[in-house]
Amino acid sequence: MSLFNLFGRPSFNHGIHPPSNKTVTGKTPIRRLPFPGMLVIPLNQHIGKPAIPIIKKGEEVVRGQPIAKADGFVSVPIHAPATGRIKGIELMPTAQGRNAPSILLEVYEGATQEVLWGEEQTIGDMSDEALRQAIQNSGMVGLGGAAFPSHVKLTIPEDKSVDTLVVNGCECEPYLSCDHRMMLEHPRALMRGIRYAMRATGTKQAVIGIEDNKMDAVETLRANLPRDGSISVEAVETKYPQGSEKMLIKSLLGREVPAGGIPAEIGVVVNNVGTLAALGQLLPKGEGLIERVITVAGPGVKHPGNYLVPLGTPIGFVLDQVGYEGSQTEFILGGPMMGPAVSALDTPVTKGTSGLLVLNEPDIESETLRIWPCIKCARCVDACPMHLNPSHLGQLAAKRKYETMAEEFHLNDCFECGSCSYVCPSNIPLVQYFRIAKAINREQAA
Ligand code: SF4
Ligand code: SF4
Repeated sequence: MSLFNLFGRPSFNHGIHPPSNKTVTGKTPIRRLPFPGMLVIPLNQHIGKPAIPIIKKGEEVVRGQPIAKADGFVSVPIHAPATGRIKGIELMPTAQGRNAPSILLEVYEGATQEVLWGEEQTIGDMSDEALRQAIQNSGMVGLGGAAFPSHVKLTIPEDKSVDTLVVNGCECEPYLSCDHRMMLEHPRALMRGIRYAMRATGTKQAVIGIEDNKMDAVETLRANLPRDGSISVEAVETKYPQGSEKMLIKSLLGREVPAGGIPAEIGVVVNNVGTLAALGQLLPKGEGLIERVITVAGPGVKHPGNYLVPLGTPIGFVLDQVGYEGSQTEFILGGPMMGPAVSALDTPVTKGTSGLLVLNEPDIESETLRIWPCIKCARCVDACPMHLNPSHLGQLAAKRKYETMAEEFHLNDCFECGSCSYVCPSNIPLVQYFRIAKAINREQAA
């Protein structure tokens, strides 16, 4: 059922091999950070409609209590990450680069780490619909960075049916290792979460795909598999962007998602290991998502590692705790290939934050190196996992032929992995061009 490369590991065509930089954090157990004095909790930390506050300024809340409700189906509630008092709802910086309405929660000194809200629930007694509702109530979203509400992803459209749950444990972005640690430290919770996702989607089999630079995780999960054979673990080649949905499906199942389509069209639903492990922890206790594991790494960090961080913690507080030594004014939230750079230290960790990277001046400078003309070396063509021609697309972008890019050269198949920019010897910021082109096309279509 899999595709095999020359070395015997399932893989996809093209892609790149950037240095992984995961050795230190991948070997260090997850540590918990304390509460900051103030949490900044954006109402829009998921894809879809922002949550609606259900608390008032001055109100006391306890850790785990719902403080905002979902606004419709493509939305999730938000729970208080700590016990304290609501200071207000204000516009605050976010990772998306614009200020957004956020709940400010002043944390009580000495506030307990115990979760004070939640009711045990027996998942086995629930209907499948009630299970999906429980998932929405937990406020769970894709923790791999997509922040797509999990209950929506696990609701298969009526005109489709899926046979396989693909569980994404690749974590192919350099530096990031929070999923790796979750697989090593919480394998049973992950297996529970996979069972819930299989029930919610009606799939009879699940395949966990893990890059072969994490063989300890492969072995740990294999030792925890159920005996009925419904869940399997497969090591795939270590290659970027192996962790993108389409690439992983191709590597594990040999199936191709049609252009512009979704995995359900070929009978597949994909979820990230961190998301399912968190679901496996929260659902039986009837609790909401109030904290997450993030990788904090980069040359400017004194104690790199994976940290369990209350949602809403400002990145400046995280840096104080991990011993930050640097003069940078830009930090990357997520992995270096796809994560956005932020400059405001009061930008909070949210549900979609998988990493906080502090890179040295030379690493940041490399983004602003001089751009040379295209030398037609075709390295970008060889790197593109979607078999696009980034060089040609780049030339069209320079001439502002954005519509032609989309209509004739499949711009919308580009999922902005950044592989083409990474290999370009002329430092042409191809992926930035494509982001701009897509944004302009979207604006014109609106
Ligand atoms: S950013 Fe887009 S064009 Fe460039 S390699 Fe990735 S998918 Fe291909
Ligand atoms: S990698 Fe850069 S220089 Fe080479 S063909 Fe692509 S755009 Fe041109």
